[in-house]
Amino acid sequence: MLDRRQILAALGTTALATLAPGALLAAAVIKPDDASALLVIDVQNCFLPGGSLAVKDGDQVVPVINRIAKAFSNVVTTQDWHTQGHVSFASVHSGKKPFETVDLPYGKQVLWPDHCVQGTDGAALSKDLAIPHAQLVIRKGFHKDVDSYSAFLEADGKTSTGLAAYLKARKIKRVFVAGLATDFCVAWTALDARKAGFEVYVVEDACRGIDTQGSLAKAWADMAKAGVKRIQSADIAVSA
Ligand SMILES: [Zn+2]
Repeated sequence: MLDRRQILAALGTTALATLAPGALLAAAVIKPDDASALLVIDVQNCFLPGGSLAVKDGDQVVPVINRIAKAFSNVVTTQDWHTQGHVSFASVHSGKKPFETVDLPYGKQVLWPDHCVQGTDGAALSKDLAIPHAQLVIRKGFHKDVDSYSAFLEADGKTSTGLAAYLKARKIKRVFVAGLATDFCVAWTALDARKAGFEVYVVEDACRGIDTQGSLAKAWADMAKAGVKRIQSADIAVSA
């Protein structure tokens, strides 16, 4: 649901006085249908507290995702899935530290601590995720010289993971994105989903951000500009 300040800003206090609060709540509820899919992005041990690239409060997305996932008949999860010595790791660029950037053939790359190496415990999905009905796990970032924040396209902007074609073959029209991290893999996935022609919702409280060098505010601005809808988990109708 919209928070109270947003509602006040949207309606003005005069209009609000004429509406019962219940009417506002009821109007906000979204019911996922068979043409809707939930994309659960990178809820992996490396990105959770104690992990090598821990996102602050990253574990708090898990119960929220578990709850809303019940409302979706279509669920896809993703895993960041890097080779040893992946180009996105600061450790392979001499003199560079994590969170600095380098210029690669496909553009600017933020450098990260080593994370999500294929087959390691850090790359495993959180054991607390409870989405047994998820149908597909997309692994991404497995080409040693190219990163892939997005679940749709690698960072070169052209190599497809196959996800758009999969969703279209299953007649999915709208995607809801949740997971880690808001300003990188979630945002890039949402933006590419728009480019692929999907209606896109990002469930804000089912995500957490890294926020390095203004990345979180920029991600939300880019997503708003692209027509991505920013919602809260309470906006999604989940039957008891
Ligand atoms: Zn990565």
